Amino acid sequence: MKTYVFDMDGVLFRMDDPLPGAAETITLLRNKGGNIYFLTNNSSKSRKEYQEKLARFDIHAELNEIITSAWATGRYFLERNEIGKRVYVVGEGGLREELSAVGMRVTPFRKDTHFDYVVVGWDRQFTYQKMAEAHRAISDGAIFIATNQDSTYPDSDGRTLPGGGAIVAAIETCSGIKPRTIGKPEPYTLELILRLSNTPPCDCMIIGDRLDTDIAIGKKVGVRTGMTLTGVSSKTDIDNAPADMHPDRIWDDLREFADELTK
Ligand SMILES: [Mg+2]
Repeated sequence: MKTYVFDMDGVLFRMDDPLPGAAETITLLRNKGGNIYFLTNNSSKSRKEYQEKLARFDIHAELNEIITSAWATGRYFLERNEIGKRVYVVGEGGLREELSAVGMRVTPFRKDTHFDYVVVGWDRQFTYQKMAEAHRAISDGAIFIATNQDSTYPDSDGRTLPGGGAIVAAIETCSGIKPRTIGKPEPYTLELILRLSNTPPCDCMIIGDRLDTDIAIGKKVGVRTGMTLTGVSSKTDIDNAPADMHPDRIWDDLREFADELTK
């Protein structure tokens, strides 16, 4: 394979704990000359923050190897010549930072302001007020963009928290409008990586822990898919999965993949 795309949470780490074999696998693949990308639906952190987090786990990444749904949303606007348009954001600091960095006008809500876009991601300070403001901006003609649709986010104790998709669903319900979604399993982010790295789908593999995002996007885009059992989806989930979410390879954790690479 020319290019490997790693989901992060549940594959390389879980909250603040590294997962077994992660750093070793990345090093082995780099030594073999593979391109490495890190792809996450999490919109709350900037690429720089992910770079620092990976470094704490002895994984060294260039900024341009880190693709978050927040950064990809900025890229989406850039590719469509929408830079400079006014955006109302429901999301955290990383999302505002990435959108501002490409030149979007991230603007606080005012009733007399026209918004071109409403961008919604994971927001742990989400309130009724924010929902009402997003609803009003969309009713007044703003285009509704979701960074991702993840229903849950893994918590440190093995349980889950409501994800960005739950917030998107609230705004979708009141506005009656379905958003355009940037993150996995929609094809945009993975197709972007193939374009940036000049890789044909047959020379790419995505490795994730979640069937309905990581494996589903891989199948849609036509790349190889690998799954670790260190995150959200279990062996039973795989057994019950439809064909368009069935991974090509399954490893208990990345130590198994690293062992294969050293054989
Ligand atoms: Mg994951």
